Amino acid sequence: MNQAVLADEVLRKLRFVLSHTSHPGNIGSAARAIRTMGLRRLSLVSPEQFPHIDAHVLAAGADDVLEAAICTNDLPEAIADCSLVIGATARLRGVALEEWSPRVAAARALDAITAGCEVAFVFGNERSGLSNDEIKLCHAAVHIPSDPSYSSLNLSQAVQVIAYEMRMAVLSDAPARPSNRDIPASSVELEGFFEHLASTLRDIDFHKGRSERTIMQRLRRLFLRASLDQRELRVLRGILADAQRMARLARGD
Ligand code: SAH
Repeated sequence: MNQAVLADEVLRKLRFVLSHTSHPGNIGSAARAIRTMGLRRLSLVSPEQFPHIDAHVLAAGADDVLEAAICTNDLPEAIADCSLVIGATARLRGVALEEWSPRVAAARALDAITAGCEVAFVFGNERSGLSNDEIKLCHAAVHIPSDPSYSSLNLSQAVQVIAYEMRMAVLSDAPARPSNRDIPASSVELEGFFEHLASTLRDIDFHKGRSERTIMQRLRRLFLRASLDQRELRVLRGILADAQRMARLARGD
């Protein structure tokens, strides 16, 4: 893929999701940040105040990004069709997610985009960051390696760093790897699979008193690392359905 085509693909398939943003000025600054890096797509999950004059003032001319911004009530809606969801975190809370540097995250995002996936970077609220429920929906975390004793960047500055790395990844024009994979599984399909997996593990009495939460975190991490496509997901769900059927037979249902 040549650089212009690649830049166009990134433009179409990459979105920045700002969740529960308190200050409309930060939304404007984030719009400016992504626009300067040749990007456009902004999604806003339940912003406290939007539209707002402060957003337009700080967008400094990137009003087209604000006007095209998509507002949703919750994160699942904002990322439903995404196959790769990367959560930006100022600190890590012992979450069972792979943690990437911005450079690695940008390279992975670009790989996913060239494979035809929709990709999202998700940013949290200014005070509280991403909630645990939001983190759970992410497939990996990206952490800007800031000073650990003062690690939290301003929201729009964090957006700027990630957008810059995306631009650098595009400009470095790495040749896309050939792929014979099926359509990547979306967030909705992956969450459906994880629910099916959890219920199957209960049906086959896998846990035996051990923590279901811990094992599910590990399994999520394992399957997310594999970046499953739709064909692979169908095979896995077929196996789960058969395991459930055998468990029913064994119970004599
Ligand atoms: N007090 C919050 C910080 C919120 S800053 C906390 O400790 O989580 C607002 C958002 O900016 C964060 O949710 C995150 O998405 C992003 N951000 C800030 N600093 C970052 C960093 N060092 N690495 C990655 N993202 C960061």
